[in-house]
Amino acid sequence: MATTLLLGAMLWADTMKPPHPGWGVAIEDDRVLATAPHAQLRTDFPDASVIEATDCVVTPAFVNAHHHMYGVLAHGIPLEKAPAGFWPFLKEFWWPLVEDRLTHDWIAAATDWACLEMVRNGITTFYDCLEAPYAIPGALEVEAQVVRRRGVRGVLSFEATERVSAENGALGLRENADFIDHCRAHGGLVSGMMCFHTTFTCSADFIHRAFELAAERGARTHMHLSEGTYEPEYCLSRYGMRPVAYYEHLGVLGQHVLASQCVQVDAAEIEILARRGVHVSHQPLSNCEVGGGFAPVPEMLEAGVNVALGTDGYMNNFFEVMRAAALIPKARLQDPGVMPASVVWTMATQNGARALGFTDVGILAPGYQADLLLITTDVPTPLATHNLADQLLLWRNPSHLRGVMCAGRWLLCDGKVIGMDENAVRGRVEEAARRLWEGSIA
Ligand SMILES: [Zn+2]
Repeated sequence: MATTLLLGAMLWADTMKPPHPGWGVAIEDDRVLATAPHAQLRTDFPDASVIEATDCVVTPAFVNAHHHMYGVLAHGIPLEKAPAGFWPFLKEFWWPLVEDRLTHDWIAAATDWACLEMVRNGITTFYDCLEAPYAIPGALEVEAQVVRRRGVRGVLSFEATERVSAENGALGLRENADFIDHCRAHGGLVSGMMCFHTTFTCSADFIHRAFELAAERGARTHMHLSEGTYEPEYCLSRYGMRPVAYYEHLGVLGQHVLASQCVQVDAAEIEILARRGVHVSHQPLSNCEVGGGFAPVPEMLEAGVNVALGTDGYMNNFFEVMRAAALIPKARLQDPGVMPASVVWTMATQNGARALGFTDVGILAPGYQADLLLITTDVPTPLATHNLADQLLLWRNPSHLRGVMCAGRWLLCDGKVIGMDENAVRGRVEEAARRLWEGSIA
């Protein structure tokens, strides 16, 4: 088997630990074989092919723990007026003008664009949540075919909800269950997850059914949770308790749960999330977009909750999302010491992998997947072990990625995405958006 040595200026193999200057990675097939000083690797693997990247830092690739790939179709969509809050955002805009109109062709076009965008951003693993009630059955397989072709590691799900009808809700749960089974049978980089929407679009019976189907398959379950004040108010008035307490009451919380957003959660809810081992994904920029508030991320981390990072299909520049995750809490808590850069890097890599259930992603160590980034080091001030996390978080961007590797395969090399006609991909998504917008109010 062919072994490749990747020798960078510095190796930051595990973002919880200090980086190693002068270290590299040995890669065989889709996995990391060894990490060691350059000279050691050359001695241990004398027949290996060598890639010198001494103007780059090698880091684990990013994990986007919450995406809506179809979201790109709504970027710039004409609106008569801005939605007046989170509920009107869904009811008057997002559901009727976007999700309810999606077709398989448009979903495929958006998926292709999303994959291109993720590769450019150094994201090699992602979780996606598709809501398109009139595009099932079969919508997830449409996405999967594109994702497989692009070579990224995708966990795909359909956001089942009873908001259209009970029958449509059941069809959504079935879409997930069948897709999980299908991916398990066929292997590869694409897998499935169970997913339902929220407490305000799904009944208790429906939520139990989602968890049953997931448990039968040993799969995780995702839901949106308290993205704004609407859901806590709904649960308090309907069930006399806040959403996390309601889920606890239903007996469904555990390490198999991925809850996205968690913006409006109070201290008692954070305690339950931590105690139950629920994974949380945080989307700082889309929280701003919908006026949802500030997620208590430092508080959740302090309580021991595993918090990952996602783009939410909004602004998909992962460096910007990381900066938002680092900077917004400093302003909110009036404390520049919270959310150090290394913590944000950890959320963007290994926390994301844990949240999605991967045990061999997010760190560069023997036996782990060879998912990595080559990030250029040409910042204007010296790059050192003490400042690497800050330098890379604050002053790097997708344009500074020299290489992106997923499962041992280069997806971006010398700054160019491999095997994609970028203009053709953009042309298809632009056409899809144009047709979607024809039904909007402009
Ligand atoms: Zn979302």
